[in-house]
Amino acid sequence: MISNCFPDRSSHPVCPNDRQEIEEEGGFYADKAWARDILSLRIKCQQNSRGCEWIGQLRYAEEHQEECPYEHVPCSACQGSIQRRLLGTHLKDECPKRIVECVYCEDEFFFIEKQPHEDIYCKRFPLVCENNCGHDEIPREEMASHVSEKCLMTVVLCPYSEAGCPFEDKRAYLKDHLEVSVDGHLEMAWNSLILAKKEISTMKDKFYEVQEVNQEMKESVAECRSELRELSAAVNKLVKENVGQKKFNQVITEKIKIVEAKIPQKTTPEAYGIPVNETMRRSPRVVIGKTVTGGLTSVDRIKLQKDALDAQRKLLQSYTRPSLNNTD
Ligand SMILES: [Zn+2]
Ligand SMILES: [Zn+2]
Ligand SMILES: [Zn+2]
Ligand SMILES: [Zn+2]
Ligand SMILES: [Zn+2]
Repeated sequence: MISNCFPDRSSHPVCPNDRQEIEEEGGFYADKAWARDILSLRIKCQQNSRGCEWIGQLRYAEEHQEECPYEHVPCSACQGSIQRRLLGTHLKDECPKRIVECVYCEDEFFFIEKQPHEDIYCKRFPLVCENNCGHDEIPREEMASHVSEKCLMTVVLCPYSEAGCPFEDKRAYLKDHLEVSVDGHLEMAWNSLILAKKEISTMKDKFYEVQEVNQEMKESVAECRSELRELSAAVNKLVKENVGQKKFNQVITEKIKIVEAKIPQKTTPEAYGIPVNETMRRSPRVVIGKTVTGGLTSVDRIKLQKDALDAQRKLLQSYTRPSLNNTD
């Protein structure tokens, strides 16, 4: 028996002759001579049905399988299963993931991207003119300029349309139109030139008017500025005077306080040398801020007030009033 008869060692091996179970330990042994005989047997290649004609010893079968041209192997690009002998052709001409170059723009991409490239992206892919003018090899990126600048089927305006020519037709007819309309175009151009001249003249007049208004406005702004400066100076002067006045008022207030302090505190008519009777005592009167006990006649009151005012005036005269001119 040879060990290869029992590939699955996990199940109990049986003798192929009498189907008796064979012990695992010591029940069989590797028969090297027989193994050599078996390995020397001649066999056909597994891919014989596909066309491989290899016949050789069993010992070389595995070696052959690794290089058999009919054996399937994975394509390195698309991972598809391909016979070894066809791999070169597959990679060169058939593989959907083979790299191809665009014949129009020389871009490179996978073969499966060729169709969308040509249908949408290729800038140099030749197209038939959109206007069906007969050109059929216009690169995609030049189609727009062909239609707008060259295509004879595009509807165009006459170059003199700005001057009033109503021509609007296929470019193919423009040449004839220009040839037969020389006089008409000249007249249109002349008329529009005259019109333009008039417009320029009108615009010039308007320009001068605007310039004049502009000058007036400039002068008026200058006047306003000067008035503003004067007003501002006047306001400044008033503010300064106000400050001077306030200072003066403060000085006067202080001086009045000093004068009041110096006025004799006469509180009764007797103090002024006026005889007082009982009626006067019962009705106190107020004379320039001081309470006088007892009633006084109006002559008395005036006399009292006059005396007090005289005293104040005398004191005030001893001070000079600050000059407002100094604050300018
Ligand atoms: Zn083979
Ligand atoms: Zn492939
Ligand atoms: Zn391309
Ligand atoms: Zn065209
Ligand atoms: Zn025209």
